[in-house]
Amino acid sequence: MTLTIPFSNSYGQLPPRFFTRQAATPVAAPELIAFNDALADRLGITRGADGDMARVFSGNEAPPGADPLAQVYAGHQFGGFSPQLGDGRALLLGEVEAPDGTRFDIQLKGAGRTPYSRGGDGRAWLGPVLREYVVSEAMAALGVPTTRALAAVATGETVWRETALPGAVLTRVATSHIRVGTFQFFAARRDLDALKALFDYTCARHYPDARTPDDLLIAVIDAQAALVAQWLSLGFIHGVMNTDNTTLSGETIDYGPCAFVDDYHPQTVFSSIDRHGRYAYDNQANVIVWNMAQLATCLVPLCDDQEATVERFTAAVHAMPDKIEAQRLARFGAKIGLSNPTDDDRPLINDLLDLMARDGADFTNTFRALAHGSARDQLTDRAAYDDWHTRWQARLAAEPDAHSLMLRTNPAFIPRNHRVEEMIQAAVAGDFGPVHRLLQVLSTPYTDQPDAADLTRPPAPHERVQQTFCG
Ligand code: AMP
Ligand code: MG
Ligand code: MG
Repeated sequence: MTLTIPFSNSYGQLPPRFFTRQAATPVAAPELIAFNDALADRLGITRGADGDMARVFSGNEAPPGADPLAQVYAGHQFGGFSPQLGDGRALLLGEVEAPDGTRFDIQLKGAGRTPYSRGGDGRAWLGPVLREYVVSEAMAALGVPTTRALAAVATGETVWRETALPGAVLTRVATSHIRVGTFQFFAARRDLDALKALFDYTCARHYPDARTPDDLLIAVIDAQAALVAQWLSLGFIHGVMNTDNTTLSGETIDYGPCAFVDDYHPQTVFSSIDRHGRYAYDNQANVIVWNMAQLATCLVPLCDDQEATVERFTAAVHAMPDKIEAQRLARFGAKIGLSNPTDDDRPLINDLLDLMARDGADFTNTFRALAHGSARDQLTDRAAYDDWHTRWQARLAAEPDAHSLMLRTNPAFIPRNHRVEEMIQAAVAGDFGPVHRLLQVLSTPYTDQPDAADLTRPPAPHERVQQTFCG
Protein backbone atom coordinates (compact mmCIF):
# COMPACT_ATOMS: atom_id res chain seq x y z
CA MET A 1 0.00 0.00 0.00
CA THR A 2 1.76 3.14 -1.18
CA LEU A 3 0.41 6.64 -1.12
CA THR A 4 0.54 7.95 -4.67
CA ILE A 5 -0.57 11.37 -5.80
CA PRO A 6 -0.47 11.73 -9.59
CA PHE A 7 0.70 15.34 -9.67
CA SER A 8 0.29 17.37 -12.82
CA ASN A 9 1.19 20.94 -11.93
CA SER A 10 0.33 24.08 -13.86
CA TYR A 11 0.20 27.09 -11.52
CA GLY A 12 3.95 26.88 -10.99
CA GLN A 13 4.43 27.59 -14.67
CA LEU A 14 2.94 31.06 -14.31
CA PRO A 15 5.40 33.96 -13.91
CA PRO A 16 7.44 33.84 -10.68
CA ARG A 17 5.67 36.86 -9.21
CA PHE A 18 2.51 34.75 -8.80
CA PHE A 19 3.98 32.78 -5.88
CA THR A 20 6.93 31.90 -3.72
CA ARG A 21 8.30 28.38 -3.95
CA GLN A 22 9.04 26.92 -0.56
CA ALA A 23 8.85 23.74 1.47
CA ALA A 24 6.56 23.15 4.42
CA THR A 25 7.99 23.59 7.91
CA PRO A 26 8.21 20.14 9.51
CA VAL A 27 6.12 19.37 12.58
CA ALA A 28 7.08 17.38 15.67
CA ALA A 29 4.87 14.31 15.66
CA PRO A 30 2.35 14.04 12.79
CA GLU A 31 -0.58 11.71 13.33
CA LEU A 32 -3.38 11.05 10.85
CA ILE A 33 -6.80 12.05 12.18
CA ALA A 34 -8.96 11.62 9.10
CA PHE A 35 -8.56 10.71 5.47
CA ASN A 36 -11.26 11.07 2.83
CA ASP A 37 -11.16 7.81 0.86
CA ALA A 38 -14.10 8.70 -1.39
CA LEU A 39 -12.47 11.96 -2.43
CA ALA A 40 -9.09 10.29 -2.88
CA ASP A 41 -10.71 7.81 -5.27
CA ARG A 42 -12.26 10.61 -7.26
CA LEU A 43 -8.84 12.29 -7.54
CA GLY A 44 -6.96 9.16 -8.49
CA ILE A 45 -4.97 9.23 -5.24
CA THR A 46 -4.19 5.88 -3.67
CA ARG A 47 -4.03 5.45 0.04
CA GLY A 48 -0.83 4.57 1.88
CA ALA A 49 -0.03 3.46 5.40
CA ASP A 50 -1.28 5.91 8.04
CA GLY A 51 2.27 6.90 8.97
CA ASP A 52 3.17 7.76 5.38
CA MET A 53 0.01 9.77 4.96
CA ALA A 54 0.65 11.62 8.21
CA ARG A 55 4.13 12.59 6.99
CA VAL A 56 2.92 13.76 3.58
CA PHE A 57 -0.23 15.57 4.76
CA SER A 58 1.61 17.38 7.53
CA GLY A 59 4.26 18.61 5.11
CA ASN A 60 7.05 16.62 6.74
CA GLU A 61 7.71 14.75 3.53
CA ALA A 62 7.22 16.12 0.01
CA PRO A 63 5.78 13.36 -2.17
CA PRO A 64 7.23 12.75 -5.65
CA GLY A 65 5.96 15.33 -8.13
CA ALA A 66 5.01 17.92 -5.50
CA ASP A 67 6.14 21.49 -6.15
CA PRO A 68 5.15 23.35 -2.98
CA LEU A 69 4.49 27.06 -3.32
CA ALA A 70 2.65 29.87 -1.54
CA GLN A 71 0.30 31.85 -3.79
CA VAL A 72 0.19 35.60 -3.58
CA TYR A 73 -3.04 37.60 -3.61
CA ALA A 74 -4.58 40.81 -2.27
CA GLY A 75 -8.11 41.54 -1.14
CA HIS A 76 -10.72 43.75 0.42
CA GLN A 77 -11.08 42.71 4.03
CA PHE A 78 -14.33 44.10 5.45
CA GLY A 79 -14.25 46.66 2.66
CA GLY A 80 -10.68 47.90 3.25
CA PHE A 81 -8.10 47.07 0.62
CA SER A 82 -5.06 45.02 1.64
CA PRO A 83 -2.65 45.12 -1.30
CA GLN A 84 -0.53 42.28 0.02
CA LEU A 85 -2.01 39.05 1.30
CA GLY A 86 -1.30 35.52 0.18
CA ASP A 87 -0.95 32.02 1.54
CA GLY A 88 0.32 32.94 4.97
CA ARG A 89 -0.10 29.47 6.35
CA ALA A 90 -0.97 27.42 3.31
CA LEU A 91 1.07 25.80 0.58
CA LEU A 92 -0.09 24.50 -2.75
CA LEU A 93 1.51 21.06 -2.87
CA GLY A 94 0.59 20.69 -6.51
CA GLU A 95 -2.34 19.72 -8.72
CA VAL A 96 -3.82 16.47 -9.89
CA GLU A 97 -5.92 15.83 -12.94
CA ALA A 98 -8.73 13.57 -11.84
CA PRO A 99 -9.70 10.61 -14.00
CA ASP A 100 -12.74 12.66 -15.14
CA GLY A 101 -10.38 15.36 -16.48
CA THR A 102 -10.99 17.98 -13.76
CA ARG A 103 -7.89 19.65 -12.35
CA PHE A 104 -7.68 20.02 -8.56
CA ASP A 105 -5.32 21.86 -6.21
CA ILE A 106 -3.94 19.89 -3.28
CA GLN A 107 -3.20 22.43 -0.56
CA LEU A 108 -1.80 22.08 2.94
CA LYS A 109 -3.31 24.59 5.35
CA GLY A 110 -1.31 25.19 8.51
CA ALA A 111 2.03 24.17 6.96
CA GLY A 112 4.17 26.94 8.43
CA ARG A 113 5.20 30.51 7.80
CA THR A 114 5.63 31.93 4.30
CA PRO A 115 6.67 35.36 2.99
CA TYR A 116 2.94 36.26 3.23
CA SER A 117 2.47 35.39 6.88
CA ARG A 118 2.70 38.97 8.16
CA GLY A 119 2.45 38.61 11.95
CA GLY A 120 0.94 35.12 11.85
CA ASP A 121 2.54 31.87 12.96
CA GLY A 122 1.71 29.97 9.78
CA ARG A 123 -0.14 27.35 11.77
CA ALA A 124 -3.69 26.16 12.36
CA TRP A 125 -5.14 24.57 15.45
CA LEU A 126 -7.25 21.47 15.60
CA GLY A 127 -10.59 23.27 16.06
CA PRO A 128 -10.73 25.19 12.77
CA VAL A 129 -9.14 22.27 10.91
CA LEU A 130 -11.91 19.92 12.01
CA ARG A 131 -14.56 22.58 11.50
CA GLU A 132 -13.44 23.10 7.90
CA TYR A 133 -13.12 19.37 7.31
CA VAL A 134 -16.62 18.57 8.53
CA VAL A 135 -18.43 21.65 7.23
CA SER A 136 -16.85 21.62 3.76
CA GLU A 137 -17.61 17.91 3.37
CA ALA A 138 -21.17 18.51 4.60
CA MET A 139 -21.57 21.31 2.05
CA ALA A 140 -20.36 18.99 -0.71
CA ALA A 141 -22.87 16.35 0.35
CA LEU A 142 -25.59 19.02 0.43
CA GLY A 143 -24.76 19.69 -3.23
CA VAL A 144 -23.02 23.05 -2.77
CA PRO A 145 -19.94 23.89 -4.85
CA THR A 146 -17.10 23.96 -2.34
CA THR A 147 -13.51 23.20 -1.56
CA ARG A 148 -13.13 19.73 -0.08
CA ALA A 149 -11.13 18.12 2.70
CA LEU A 150 -8.79 15.25 1.90
CA ALA A 151 -6.98 14.79 5.18
CA ALA A 152 -6.50 16.13 8.68
CA VAL A 153 -3.29 15.52 10.60
CA ALA A 154 -2.44 16.42 14.19
CA THR A 155 1.02 17.95 14.42
CA GLY A 156 1.93 17.08 18.00
CA GLU A 157 2.80 20.75 18.43
CA THR A 158 1.20 23.52 20.40
CA VAL A 159 -0.40 26.51 18.69
CA TRP A 160 -1.05 29.67 20.70
CA ARG A 161 -4.42 31.39 20.31
CA GLU A 162 -4.62 33.28 23.62
CA THR A 163 -4.20 29.82 25.11
CA ALA A 164 -2.23 26.68 24.20
CA LEU A 165 -4.06 24.52 21.65
CA PRO A 166 -3.19 21.38 19.69
CA GLY A 167 -1.90 22.07 16.18
CA ALA A 168 -3.18 20.43 13.00
CA VAL A 169 -2.86 20.60 9.23
CA LEU A 170 -5.76 20.35 6.80
CA THR A 171 -5.33 19.11 3.25
CA ARG A 172 -7.74 21.14 1.18
CA VAL A 173 -8.81 20.29 -2.35
CA ALA A 174 -10.20 22.90 -4.73
CA THR A 175 -10.73 23.21 -8.47
CA SER A 176 -8.36 26.15 -7.94
CA HIS A 177 -7.49 28.75 -5.32
CA ILE A 178 -7.81 31.69 -7.72
CA ARG A 179 -9.60 34.47 -5.87
CA VAL A 180 -10.96 37.88 -6.78
CA GLY A 181 -8.01 38.98 -4.65
CA THR A 182 -5.58 37.27 -7.01
CA PHE A 183 -6.77 39.57 -9.79
CA GLN A 184 -6.70 42.52 -7.40
CA PHE A 185 -3.06 41.87 -6.51
CA PHE A 186 -1.92 42.44 -10.09
CA ALA A 187 -4.51 45.07 -10.98
CA ALA A 188 -3.43 47.20 -8.00
CA ARG A 189 0.15 47.05 -9.31
CA ARG A 190 -0.94 47.83 -12.88
CA ASP A 191 0.87 44.65 -13.89
CA LEU A 192 -0.92 44.09 -17.18
CA ASP A 193 1.21 41.18 -18.30
CA ALA A 194 0.43 39.28 -15.13
CA LEU A 195 -3.26 40.18 -15.36
CA LYS A 196 -3.38 38.86 -18.91
CA ALA A 197 -1.61 35.66 -17.89
CA LEU A 198 -4.01 35.19 -14.96
CA PHE A 199 -7.00 35.87 -17.21
CA ASP A 200 -5.84 33.28 -19.76
CA TYR A 201 -5.05 30.75 -17.06
CA THR A 202 -8.41 31.22 -15.31
CA CYS A 203 -10.41 30.90 -18.52
CA ALA A 204 -8.52 27.78 -19.58
CA ARG A 205 -8.95 26.18 -16.18
CA HIS A 206 -12.53 27.14 -15.32
CA TYR A 207 -14.38 28.63 -18.26
CA PRO A 208 -12.95 27.18 -21.47
CA ASP A 209 -15.73 28.79 -23.49
CA ALA A 210 -14.82 32.27 -22.28
CA ARG A 211 -12.97 34.33 -24.89
CA THR A 212 -13.13 37.85 -23.48
CA PRO A 213 -13.02 39.55 -20.08
CA ASP A 214 -16.76 40.11 -20.51
CA ASP A 215 -17.26 36.37 -20.88
CA LEU A 216 -15.23 35.65 -17.76
CA LEU A 217 -16.94 38.34 -15.69
CA ILE A 218 -20.40 37.10 -16.62
CA ALA A 219 -19.45 33.46 -16.04
CA VAL A 220 -18.15 34.25 -12.54
CA ILE A 221 -21.17 36.43 -11.75
CA ASP A 222 -23.48 33.58 -12.77
CA ALA A 223 -21.52 31.03 -10.71
CA GLN A 224 -21.44 33.27 -7.63
CA ALA A 225 -25.11 34.22 -7.97
CA ALA A 226 -26.02 30.54 -7.97
CA LEU A 227 -23.67 29.82 -5.07
CA VAL A 228 -24.93 32.56 -2.76
CA ALA A 229 -28.57 31.70 -3.49
CA GLN A 230 -27.78 28.14 -2.52
CA TRP A 231 -26.13 29.29 0.72
CA LEU A 232 -29.26 31.27 1.53
CA SER A 233 -31.47 28.28 0.83
CA LEU A 234 -29.56 26.25 3.42
CA GLY A 235 -29.27 28.95 6.06
CA PHE A 236 -25.52 29.13 5.57
CA ILE A 237 -23.60 32.20 6.68
CA HIS A 238 -20.08 32.33 5.26
CA GLY A 239 -18.99 34.90 7.78
CA VAL A 240 -15.99 36.43 6.02
CA MET A 241 -16.86 37.21 2.41
CA ASN A 242 -13.73 39.24 1.79
CA THR A 243 -12.66 39.39 -1.86
CA ASP A 244 -9.71 37.12 -1.07
CA ASN A 245 -12.26 34.54 0.07
CA THR A 246 -14.31 34.76 -3.14
CA THR A 247 -13.25 32.27 -5.81
CA LEU A 248 -13.31 32.59 -9.56
CA SER A 249 -14.50 28.98 -9.76
CA GLY A 250 -17.68 29.69 -7.80
CA GLU A 251 -16.72 27.29 -5.01
CA THR A 252 -17.25 28.13 -1.37
CA ILE A 253 -13.86 28.73 0.26
CA ASP A 254 -12.54 29.58 3.71
CA TYR A 255 -14.62 28.03 6.45
CA GLY A 256 -13.30 30.29 9.20
CA PRO A 257 -16.19 31.79 11.15
CA CYS A 258 -18.97 30.23 9.06
CA ALA A 259 -22.16 28.99 10.70
CA PHE A 260 -25.64 27.76 9.91
CA VAL A 261 -28.67 29.66 11.11
CA ASP A 262 -30.44 27.88 13.94
CA ASP A 263 -33.54 29.92 14.76
CA TYR A 264 -34.17 31.90 11.64
CA HIS A 265 -33.54 35.58 11.60
CA PRO A 266 -32.40 37.31 8.40
CA GLN A 267 -29.89 39.58 10.14
CA THR A 268 -28.07 36.75 11.90
CA VAL A 269 -24.30 37.21 12.38
CA PHE A 270 -22.00 34.80 14.21
CA SER A 271 -18.50 35.99 13.37
CA SER A 272 -16.77 37.72 16.27
CA ILE A 273 -15.00 40.13 13.91
CA ASP A 274 -18.11 41.12 11.92
CA ARG A 275 -19.19 43.91 14.25
CA HIS A 276 -21.44 45.74 11.81
CA GLY A 277 -23.11 42.78 10.15
CA ARG A 278 -21.41 43.27 6.79
CA TYR A 279 -21.58 39.52 6.26
CA ALA A 280 -24.93 38.87 7.96
CA TYR A 281 -27.13 36.14 6.49
CA ASP A 282 -29.27 38.45 4.41
CA ASN A 283 -26.45 40.80 3.39
CA GLN A 284 -24.58 38.07 1.54
CA ALA A 285 -26.55 38.73 -1.64
CA ASN A 286 -25.45 42.39 -1.53
CA VAL A 287 -21.83 41.72 -0.65
CA ILE A 288 -21.28 39.27 -3.48
CA VAL A 289 -22.39 41.94 -5.95
CA TRP A 290 -19.89 44.35 -4.40
CA ASN A 291 -17.19 41.67 -4.70
CA MET A 292 -18.03 41.12 -8.36
CA ALA A 293 -17.72 44.88 -8.91
CA GLN A 294 -14.16 44.58 -7.60
CA LEU A 295 -13.47 41.76 -10.05
CA ALA A 296 -14.94 43.85 -12.87
CA THR A 297 -12.65 46.73 -11.95
CA CYS A 298 -9.63 44.44 -12.26
CA LEU A 299 -10.68 43.25 -15.71
CA VAL A 300 -11.16 46.72 -17.23
CA PRO A 301 -7.47 47.22 -18.16
CA LEU A 302 -7.65 44.05 -20.25
CA CYS A 303 -10.07 45.71 -22.66
CA ASP A 304 -9.44 48.31 -25.34
CA ASP A 305 -12.08 51.01 -25.08
CA GLN A 306 -12.09 51.64 -21.34
CA GLU A 307 -15.12 53.89 -21.29
CA ALA A 308 -17.30 51.45 -23.20
CA THR A 309 -15.91 48.62 -21.09
CA VAL A 310 -16.85 50.30 -17.85
CA GLU A 311 -20.35 50.75 -19.20
CA ARG A 312 -20.67 47.07 -20.16
CA PHE A 313 -19.19 45.83 -16.89
CA THR A 314 -21.42 48.13 -14.87
CA ALA A 315 -24.42 46.66 -16.65
CA ALA A 316 -23.17 43.13 -15.96
CA VAL A 317 -22.78 43.86 -12.24
CA HIS A 318 -26.12 45.67 -12.07
CA ALA A 319 -27.76 42.60 -13.59
CA MET A 320 -26.51 40.41 -10.76
CA PRO A 321 -29.16 41.12 -8.07
CA ASP A 322 -31.89 39.89 -10.41
CA LYS A 323 -29.86 36.78 -11.16
CA ILE A 324 -29.46 36.05 -7.46
CA GLU A 325 -33.15 36.68 -6.91
CA ALA A 326 -34.07 34.27 -9.74
CA GLN A 327 -31.83 31.60 -8.25
CA ARG A 328 -33.20 32.27 -4.81
CA LEU A 329 -36.76 31.91 -6.10
CA ALA A 330 -35.89 28.58 -7.72
CA ARG A 331 -34.18 27.29 -4.56
CA PHE A 332 -36.79 28.41 -2.06
CA GLY A 333 -39.59 27.45 -4.41
CA ALA A 334 -38.24 23.91 -4.49
CA LYS A 335 -38.03 23.93 -0.69
CA ILE A 336 -41.80 24.41 -0.52
CA GLY A 337 -42.39 21.87 -3.28
CA LEU A 338 -42.69 24.11 -6.33
CA SER A 339 -40.92 22.72 -9.37
CA ASN A 340 -41.26 25.86 -11.44
CA PRO A 341 -41.91 28.83 -9.17
CA THR A 342 -42.83 32.16 -10.72
CA ASP A 343 -42.90 35.72 -9.46
CA ASP A 344 -46.45 35.08 -8.26
CA ASP A 345 -45.03 32.56 -5.78
CA ARG A 346 -42.76 35.05 -4.06
CA PRO A 347 -45.33 36.10 -1.44
CA LEU A 348 -45.91 32.47 -0.46
CA ILE A 349 -42.18 31.95 0.10
CA ASN A 350 -41.56 35.28 1.79
CA ASP A 351 -44.59 35.02 4.06
CA LEU A 352 -43.34 31.70 5.38
CA LEU A 353 -39.89 33.17 6.01
CA ASP A 354 -41.45 36.17 7.75
CA LEU A 355 -43.48 33.87 9.93
CA MET A 356 -40.41 31.81 10.76
CA ALA A 357 -38.45 34.95 11.62
CA ARG A 358 -41.23 36.23 13.90
CA ASP A 359 -41.41 32.89 15.67
CA GLY A 360 -37.67 32.25 15.69
CA ALA A 361 -38.38 28.88 14.10
CA ASP A 362 -35.52 26.51 13.42
CA PHE A 363 -34.60 27.08 9.77
CA THR A 364 -33.57 23.53 8.89
CA ASN A 365 -36.22 21.69 10.84
CA THR A 366 -39.09 23.87 9.70
CA PHE A 367 -38.36 23.25 6.02
CA ARG A 368 -37.75 19.55 6.58
CA ALA A 369 -41.05 19.35 8.46
CA LEU A 370 -42.87 20.77 5.44
CA ALA A 371 -41.95 17.56 3.64
CA HIS A 372 -43.16 15.47 6.56
CA GLY A 373 -46.39 17.40 7.07
CA SER A 374 -45.42 18.53 10.57
CA ALA A 375 -44.34 22.13 10.02
CA ARG A 376 -47.15 23.43 12.20
CA ASP A 377 -45.32 22.00 15.23
CA GLN A 378 -42.27 24.12 14.44
CA LEU A 379 -44.15 27.41 14.83
CA THR A 380 -45.81 29.13 17.73
CA ASP A 381 -48.24 31.32 15.78
CA ARG A 382 -50.42 28.41 14.70
CA ALA A 383 -53.21 30.57 13.31
CA ALA A 384 -50.81 32.38 11.00
CA TYR A 385 -49.33 29.06 9.94
CA ASP A 386 -52.76 27.61 9.23
CA ASP A 387 -53.57 30.53 6.92
CA TRP A 388 -50.30 30.05 5.11
CA HIS A 389 -50.83 26.30 4.93
CA THR A 390 -54.19 26.75 3.21
CA ARG A 391 -52.66 28.98 0.51
CA TRP A 392 -49.75 26.56 0.16
CA GLN A 393 -51.94 23.51 -0.27
CA ALA A 394 -53.96 25.26 -2.96
CA ARG A 395 -50.77 26.03 -4.85
CA LEU A 396 -49.43 22.48 -4.36
CA ALA A 397 -52.41 20.99 -6.17
CA ALA A 398 -50.47 21.59 -9.40
CA GLU A 399 -47.29 19.90 -8.07
CA PRO A 400 -47.51 16.10 -8.06
CA ASP A 401 -43.82 15.65 -7.12
CA ALA A 402 -43.75 18.20 -4.32
CA HIS A 403 -43.03 15.66 -1.64
CA SER A 404 -39.91 14.19 -3.20
CA LEU A 405 -38.74 17.64 -4.30
CA MET A 406 -38.94 18.88 -0.71
CA LEU A 407 -37.10 15.83 0.60
CA ARG A 408 -34.32 16.49 -1.92
CA THR A 409 -33.96 20.17 -1.10
CA ASN A 410 -34.59 20.39 2.64
CA PRO A 411 -31.83 18.56 4.48
CA ALA A 412 -32.55 16.66 7.65
CA PHE A 413 -28.96 17.22 8.74
CA ILE A 414 -26.67 20.22 8.67
CA PRO A 415 -23.48 20.67 10.71
CA ARG A 416 -25.18 22.45 13.58
CA ASN A 417 -22.93 24.96 15.28
CA HIS A 418 -23.27 23.44 18.73
CA ARG A 419 -22.49 19.97 17.41
CA VAL A 420 -19.40 21.27 15.65
CA GLU A 421 -18.28 22.92 18.90
CA GLU A 422 -18.97 19.76 20.84
CA MET A 423 -16.97 17.76 18.29
CA ILE A 424 -14.02 20.14 18.64
CA GLN A 425 -14.05 19.93 22.41
CA ALA A 426 -14.13 16.15 22.29
CA ALA A 427 -11.24 16.11 19.80
CA VAL A 428 -9.14 18.41 21.95
CA ALA A 429 -9.73 15.94 24.77
CA GLY A 430 -8.54 13.12 22.50
CA ASP A 431 -11.90 11.69 21.42
CA PHE A 432 -12.33 11.71 17.64
CA GLY A 433 -15.54 9.66 17.73
CA PRO A 434 -17.82 12.68 17.21
CA VAL A 435 -15.78 13.81 14.17
CA HIS A 436 -16.29 10.50 12.46
CA ARG A 437 -19.92 10.28 13.45
CA LEU A 438 -20.69 13.76 12.09
CA LEU A 439 -18.85 12.96 8.86
CA GLN A 440 -20.83 9.76 8.49
CA VAL A 441 -24.26 11.24 9.18
CA LEU A 442 -23.63 14.38 7.12
CA SER A 443 -22.57 12.37 4.09
CA THR A 444 -26.28 11.70 3.34
CA PRO A 445 -27.94 14.84 4.67
CA TYR A 446 -31.21 14.41 2.80
CA THR A 447 -31.88 10.99 4.31
CA ASP A 448 -33.70 10.66 7.61
CA GLN A 449 -31.50 8.67 9.98
CA PRO A 450 -33.38 7.65 13.11
CA ASP A 451 -30.14 6.70 14.89
CA ALA A 452 -28.95 10.28 14.51
CA ALA A 453 -32.11 12.07 15.62
CA ASP A 454 -30.05 13.83 18.30
CA LEU A 455 -28.17 15.64 15.52
CA THR A 456 -31.39 17.24 14.26
CA ARG A 457 -32.14 18.85 17.63
CA PRO A 458 -31.72 22.63 17.78
CA PRO A 459 -29.37 23.89 20.49
CA ALA A 460 -30.71 24.21 24.02
CA PRO A 461 -30.16 27.75 25.34
CA HIS A 462 -26.94 26.75 27.10
CA GLU A 463 -25.66 24.97 23.97
CA ARG A 464 -26.25 27.86 21.63
CA VAL A 465 -23.14 29.12 19.86
CA GLN A 466 -23.15 32.90 20.12
CA GLN A 467 -19.95 33.70 18.26
CA THR A 468 -17.58 32.04 15.83
CA PHE A 469 -13.90 32.82 15.31
CA CYS A 470 -11.47 32.81 12.40
CA GLY A 471 -9.03 30.42 14.04
P1 AMP B 1 -8.49 34.65 6.24
O1 AMP B 1 -9.09 35.59 7.21
O2 AMP B 1 -8.45 33.23 6.69
O3 AMP B 1 -9.08 34.76 4.88
O4 AMP B 1 -6.94 35.04 6.10
C1 AMP B 1 -6.53 36.32 5.71
C2 AMP B 1 -5.03 36.34 5.50
O5 AMP B 1 -4.35 36.06 6.73
C3 AMP B 1 -4.52 35.31 4.51
O6 AMP B 1 -3.49 35.92 3.76
C4 AMP B 1 -4.02 34.20 5.39
O7 AMP B 1 -3.01 33.44 4.76
C5 AMP B 1 -3.47 34.97 6.56
N1 AMP B 1 -3.44 34.18 7.80
C6 AMP B 1 -4.51 33.77 8.53
N2 AMP B 1 -4.11 33.09 9.62
C7 AMP B 1 -2.75 33.04 9.58
C8 AMP B 1 -1.74 32.48 10.43
N3 AMP B 1 -2.05 31.81 11.53
N4 AMP B 1 -0.45 32.63 10.06
C9 AMP B 1 -0.13 33.31 8.94
N5 AMP B 1 -1.01 33.87 8.12
C10 AMP B 1 -2.33 33.75 8.42
MG1 MG C 1 -8.86 33.37 3.42
MG1 MG D 1 -9.54 31.75 7.17
